[in-house]
Amino acid sequence: MILDCHTHHTPPSPEAIISVSPIGFKPVGEQRWSVGLHPWHLDLFCGSDMRIKEEIWTELVAAAASPQVAAIGECGIDTAKGGLLAMQMMAFRKQALLAERLRKPLVIHAVKAHDIIVGMKKDLSPEQPWIIHGFRNKPTVAEIYLDAGCCLSFGERYNPESLRITPPERIFAETDESTLPIETIISALEQSRQEDLKNQIIQNGKIFTTQI
Ligand SMILES: [Zn+2]
Repeated sequence: MILDCHTHHTPPSPEAIISVSPIGFKPVGEQRWSVGLHPWHLDLFCGSDMRIKEEIWTELVAAAASPQVAAIGECGIDTAKGGLLAMQMMAFRKQALLAERLRKPLVIHAVKAHDIIVGMKKDLSPEQPWIIHGFRNKPTVAEIYLDAGCCLSFGERYNPESLRITPPERIFAETDESTLPIETIISALEQSRQEDLKNQIIQNGKIFTTQI
């Protein structure tokens, strides 16, 4: 079962999906992973023509197809800290299409980019779930993502009102870089909503089906 849809903790993390770049992907045992190109590091992954370098793409596709890989990402758009927007958009779009092709959910890093992400979702009409990870934004932004059919993943810091308006079947939980255990994070979410969420989160985590 998956409780934690996005972490950077080291393996083994049996109830979590560990997010790495294709270079950091070293499958061990039954650990589940997500692989993707983070928008902060695209300068490393893309050439001077702003496209993903061929060898990086080959490595990503090979890793992404592994049965241990449960999702594609984190990838996304960060207009505060990422590189050139055109480069970010091309890389994100390509990874979103890869997620569709491999039929794996997409884990998205989005900072000041909801209009771009939602626009791209309308454009691509993906069948795979799009999960906005580390969602800390206010309810007006949550509503925009929810209206577009996205899921939201909440971590150590979040806006309680945004959590409250998210339908239970679209709530995910994550540790990301937090040192708190996922159980502590889920308990905090449960307190905010005044309801049991753990079983729902386990249920929601079934989208990460892998054939290990
Ligand atoms: Zn992360």
